[in-house]
Amino acid sequence: MKFKSVLTRGIVCSAVLGAAVVSSPALAADGEVNLYSSRQPFLMKPLLEAYTQETGVKVNMVYLTKGMLERLKSEGLNSPADLILVSDIGNLHNHEKAGLLQPVSSATLSANIPPQYRDPDGNWFGLTMRARVIYASKTRVKPGEVSSYEDLADPKMKGRVCIRSGKHVYNVSLLASIVVAKGAAAAEAWARGVKANLARKPQGNDRAQVKAVYEGECDVAVGNTYYMGKMATNEKDPVQKDWASSVRIIFPNQNDRGAHVNISGAAITRSARNKANAIKLIEFLSGDRAQRIYAETNFEYPVKAGVPLSPLVASWGEFKPDTAYLSKIANQRNTATKLLDQVAFNK
Ligand code: FE
Repeated sequence: MKFKSVLTRGIVCSAVLGAAVVSSPALAADGEVNLYSSRQPFLMKPLLEAYTQETGVKVNMVYLTKGMLERLKSEGLNSPADLILVSDIGNLHNHEKAGLLQPVSSATLSANIPPQYRDPDGNWFGLTMRARVIYASKTRVKPGEVSSYEDLADPKMKGRVCIRSGKHVYNVSLLASIVVAKGAAAAEAWARGVKANLARKPQGNDRAQVKAVYEGECDVAVGNTYYMGKMATNEKDPVQKDWASSVRIIFPNQNDRGAHVNISGAAITRSARNKANAIKLIEFLSGDRAQRIYAETNFEYPVKAGVPLSPLVASWGEFKPDTAYLSKIANQRNTATKLLDQVAFNK
């Protein structure tokens, strides 16, 4: 398994006959699979090494921090990528909408991944889960004072809420989940209410919101669960441990629909020339060995039932997830984006 900053563009079609693409047989060898990943090398390295060790299939991974969609669009059927790995249903759905994916069916994937975390048509598959939770100041938020997303929009929270850009893929998906649960009008009222309660203009990433709670700028923040693990164990930037210990995680809406859960996932590209190996790789990533590595390396929740959580993640307690199908939430992302514009959330 190799990490390259740029995948050799020597993999090209030797002929295009009508719609059929004929690739060079030597380059589409059985023993390889080409991956575009926005998931970081530190996480993927142990997973891909384990896959190669188990199957003998070599993985060529291109790590793309941004621009994957544009790149796949411009490469078209000449793209060397067989599969993609990205975070958030929004990114998976955008690739699907752009016609860059192909559906596959796999009994292993159907067995390992609960149906709400994969596309019913087989275009994408969730591999890890993360809840979008409330980080509350241990000292300034009383137990029980905040227990739901709705509380973030309640006037009692005026000037006390921090959140990253409303347009960030994580927040669009969160709002889309509220559209699914309560309808567009209620979702709009929620976005308006949260905006009215903000301590500052939306800015920074998820961790920056927790930092702002630590610094007293706000009392509650919205963020994904794994960041708690990343902050609490951060040896490179130990001040993040202080940010983490200044807050507690509140899993929202435990008395009704549950906390919004999103995924990181995988999908087979339309251009895939090593399709069988690509499916095999996704199957491997959904299996016990890989699920355990994901859980331990990145503080995420396994999608496969029965795989143990990392002890730190387990220490946050059990929670009830919103069980709305992510495919349904994905279909409300456009509406959510429009609502965020309508309320001028970031302004
Ligand atoms: Fe993230």
